[in-house]
Formats: sequence, C-alpha cells, structure tokens
Amino acid sequence: MQFAELVQTYEKLAGTSKRLEMRKTLSELIRALRVEELPEVLYLSQGLLRPEYEGVELGVADSLARRALAQVSGVAEETVRRHVKESGDLGLTAEELLRSHPRSGGSTAGSVPEVYHVLREIAEASGDGSQERKIELLASLLGRAEPTEAKYIVRFVLGTLRLGVREMTILDALADAFAEGNKEGRKRIEAAFNVSSDLGVVAQTLARKGLDGLEEIRLTVGRPVRPMLAERAASLEDLLTRMEGKAAFEYKYDGLRLQAHLPEHGEPVLFSRRLERVSAQFPELLRELPKAIRRRPAIVEGECVSVDLDSGELQPFQEISRRRGRKYDLERMEEEVPVRFFLFDVLLDGDEEVMREDFPARRARLEKLVHPSGSDRVALATQQVADSAAAATQFFDQAIADGCEGVMGKSIAPGSSYRAGARGFWWIKYKREYTQALADTIDGVVVGAFAGRGRRAGRWGALLMAVYNPDADRFESFCKVGSGFDDETLAALPKRLNEFEVPAAPAEVLTGLVPDQWMRPSIVLELRGAELSLSPIHRAAVDAVRPGAGLALRFPRFTGKWRDDKKASDATTSAELLGLYRSQVRQSAPAEEAESPAG
Ligand code: AMP
Repeated sequence: MQFAELVQTYEKLAGTSKRLEMRKTLSELIRALRVEELPEVLYLSQGLLRPEYEGVELGVADSLARRALAQVSGVAEETVRRHVKESGDLGLTAEELLRSHPRSGGSTAGSVPEVYHVLREIAEASGDGSQERKIELLASLLGRAEPTEAKYIVRFVLGTLRLGVREMTILDALADAFAEGNKEGRKRIEAAFNVSSDLGVVAQTLARKGLDGLEEIRLTVGRPVRPMLAERAASLEDLLTRMEGKAAFEYKYDGLRLQAHLPEHGEPVLFSRRLERVSAQFPELLRELPKAIRRRPAIVEGECVSVDLDSGELQPFQEISRRRGRKYDLERMEEEVPVRFFLFDVLLDGDEEVMREDFPARRARLEKLVHPSGSDRVALATQQVADSAAAATQFFDQAIADGCEGVMGKSIAPGSSYRAGARGFWWIKYKREYTQALADTIDGVVVGAFAGRGRRAGRWGALLMAVYNPDADRFESFCKVGSGFDDETLAALPKRLNEFEVPAAPAEVLTGLVPDQWMRPSIVLELRGAELSLSPIHRAAVDAVRPGAGLALRFPRFTGKWRDDKKASDATTSAELLGLYRSQVRQSAPAEEAESPAG
C-alpha cells in the first residue's frame, strides 16, 4: 500500500469520533492490506512502531522536527516556530508550509514499508551525532512527501498522531475482517491478544491461518501476558458465596504488580502491570530471581512490595512508589527502599504452558518452583484455603495486621485457569476500606481541570474525573474532585498535567460539565467517596439505572495515590461503578438525585 492511501484513511479516522464508523474504516483498511503490511500499519495507526510493550521511542523533540521542516520548506526556523504558535500543531504547520513552498522533487513519501523503514531508522539512531542523523532522515522523508503525508509523518514522530484508534476498536475491526464480525470470533481474537499483547502478531496470524490459527500463538518469554484482574465483593460472606463456599485466600499486598520472565539463560525481564519493561528499576530482582526460581524458562507473577529486611515488615505503598519510573539513583534507591517480590502465580513452568491449569495446580507448581531459601528478595504470597466466613475473617485480620490492604479470594474450582486480560469472579478482592461507607476506592481518569478560587486562585482547584466504558471505548465523568490534595500536590498539578491539555473536549469523553481545561484521558488517580448517587450531569453508566441519569460520587476525595501503574483504560469501569452502586442500594435505601456538592 502507498503511504498516501494510508493517509487518506487517517483523514477519514480523524474526521470521526463515532466508533462504528472507525471500526468500518479500519476493517476496510485491514482488508486492503497485504499480510506483511498488517503489523506495521496497525502499529503506525496507534502511533507506535512496535507493540507498546517494547517501548520503542522515536526520540524526536519539537525542536528537531522544526529544524527538519525548516530545511525542507526553505523557510527560517523562526517562521516555522511562529506558524506553530498559531496553528498549535506542528503537523498542520508542515502541511501548510509544504503546500505554500512546493519543493522540486517532492511527490510522495512512497510505500508504507518504505516510510516505516525510515521511521525505524530514525528511532534506532542513537549515540554521538544521532540528532543530526534523525534530522537528516526526517528531512529526506518530508522532502519527498506530499503535504498531507507530511502532516501525519510529523504528528507521528512527535507522538501526537492521536487518531483515537484504540486496541479494542482494532480488535473489533479484525473480527469484522476475519470473522465476519461474529461474537465468538471476536472473543477468540481478544484472547489471542491477551496472551501475546501484540496486535501485529494476532493480525498476521489471522490473515495467514484464520481463527483456528490463533491457537498457535504461544506464551513467549519476553512478550508480556495481559494481567488477570479481580472483581470485588461487599463482604467476605459474599465473596465465599461467589466461590461456592470455598476459596484460596491470599494476602493482598499493596505494591507494584510485576510479571517476571526468566529465559533459560540470561537476565530476567520485568513488566509492570501496564506491560512496560521495568527491569532496570529493580536490579536486585534481576540478580535474585535466578537464584530463587529453580526451573527455567519461567513466567511468574507477583506483587513487589517495600519491606524492612530486618523485621520483614511490609512498608506502605508510598515507599515502593519512590522506585517506580526511576532512571537515576538506582543504586541509592535499591538501598533506601528494599523490596521483596511476593509471587502469586505461574504461567510458564519450564517448557510447560500452565495458564490453562486450575489454580490449585498452578499454586502447587509455584511452591515447587520457588526455592525456599534461594533469596530473601523472593517469596511466595501467603495463602490459606478457607471454607467459612470465620476462617476468612481471621485470615483477613491477620493480613491487615501484617500491613496488607486486604485479601484476594481465588477460585479453586475446576475451570479456575489464568484468564489473561479478563476481570471476573475467579479472583475477588476484599479490602479494608470496604468496612467504610463506600465499598471501595475508585481509580478515576483525569479528563479536565477547573481553575481554583480563593486560596487556590491561579492554580487548578478541582479535577473532572471519569471512569472507563470499554464497550463504548469512552470515558464517562462521575465527579469533580477538589479534596484530598495537599499544597505540594496542588502546586505540582499544572506541571504533571500540562502535557495532557487539549483545546477541546476529547471525542472519547462524555460529560455534562465543561471544565476550564480539557485533558486527554491519561492520568489515573485513586479516589474515595461517601456514596454513589444518580446525577443529571455525570454520564458514568448513563441510562443504566434510569434514562438520562448517570452515576456520581458524592464527597469525592483524592487518597494521595497516583495510579501511574495504570493506563487510562485500566481505570475503574462504568460497569464496576454500576456494580458498586447496586451493592450500595442492596445494603441501604437508594441514594437518589442528590447531586454531588462538588459537581
Ligand atoms: P486493584 O489494583 O485494587 O484492582 O487490585 C488488584 C491488584 O492487587 C492486582 O493487580 C495486584 O497488583 C494486587 N495484588 C496484591 N496481592 C495479590 C495477590 N495475592 N494476588 C493477586 N493480586 C494481588
């Protein structure tokens, strides 16, 4: 396919916010591609060069792109800068400048593989002179491109492509293209994605071998599996009922979830919950895991928690969060914030894929796999099987006393396999907060900000928060939160949020409020509140309880936890919020129409 054709599709996608239209456009695109082109195009359309977990970055800053553009269009860099100030988008500026300054030799950027190849080269240029090399490559590409192509090339290299093409929509389009849109087929495609985390691999397999071919997609060391997720219960009795009276209870550690991949030889690779490679942040685990794990290759999962190594006491989440995302001072942090990795699952045991085995079998494998005195940095998650509320409560109390945030109940019934990427009642979490008014904390996504008044004048005073609705692939507002921010956090908010500011309401945001500043859904914060009520303004789970009404959180409060480990689409979902509302209604009289005082 010619890049110019792909760009026509991008123009179509950019012109709509309707998911159905997007899905149709994408499935047409997928059908028109050759098998070899599929992965590249799917990555490119998401603004990526490779699957997200590989973390390949182009390393092109605004200034670098401006220089390349100035070179190609033959105008001064200052002119480019001024133009961008007006257009607000270097991509648009590129399009317009190239249109008004035609170049000799400028015709077309070439085929998709050709453009992709140059983009890869830009990403791979590193070390001395790499900036010059990147400019040279970009300028040569822009020099050939026609103006609309240039717009998308510039947006791509700057990471501002934002076609709104999200994974779930691509999966829909793949189902349309390869499974006639049928539901069962869609499920199998998503399952293959959950195991591989790579849309390129899934698409290519589908194109070559059809739906049945997906079975051949295997667990691979170095390629993360999308994590299995938990549901919640209102009480331990409720949890046990869901589990048919008996479950394995585990400590619910308050740390960072890690998936560790141990190749047969060589260093382990660590992935965060959002599937980023975080190996460099935990050098001690890279050293210690091979001592603790007896059989390789292996893929194991667990929670990494800060501990006092002398007493074994677990430290609060705030401690380990100091190690997250760090690039410098790694050695000092290793000493200041020692960690222990509590393993709770195994997916690959030697050459055996064990995801499909029931949980008791996997736990038995895990117990064999972990050398009890192999390393003081690696341990098994504390577990106990219980079949009465009394026994579960005793275990829960012990978990809290030991510094955990609650317990995880895990099904031990037939069928309790590892369900990658799925949230279900095979795992149920029960936290200490559940004893308070609202059953759980909510992980909300920032979609806007309101200017502060009084003491907060000149800063952000409150944030507009949304939950995620995966069915519609959109973010639905449920409160405006201004409480729980200390002065330091308030002062840091503008800097933390400014890269997400957008001039207009993002297409994927649904709300009845208009904030002073819209934000691209990206940052996730943990909130607590008094209760959920029906609201005419907020749109979370709108129409689910009553036509026209959404759900709102009353008296929302930031808990102080930035959930940097979650992507926007990992936030609490509208369906979960609805579940919380319903469990609350079941427990007491329904709270209705009382609009949140903050929103
Ligand atoms: P939440 O983030 O509140 O949805 O809770 C689920 C998270 O609890 C998982 O993603 C893990 O990071 C964490 N967790 C802590 N202990 C365990 C455990 N024993 N089993 C599974 N997940 C655990």
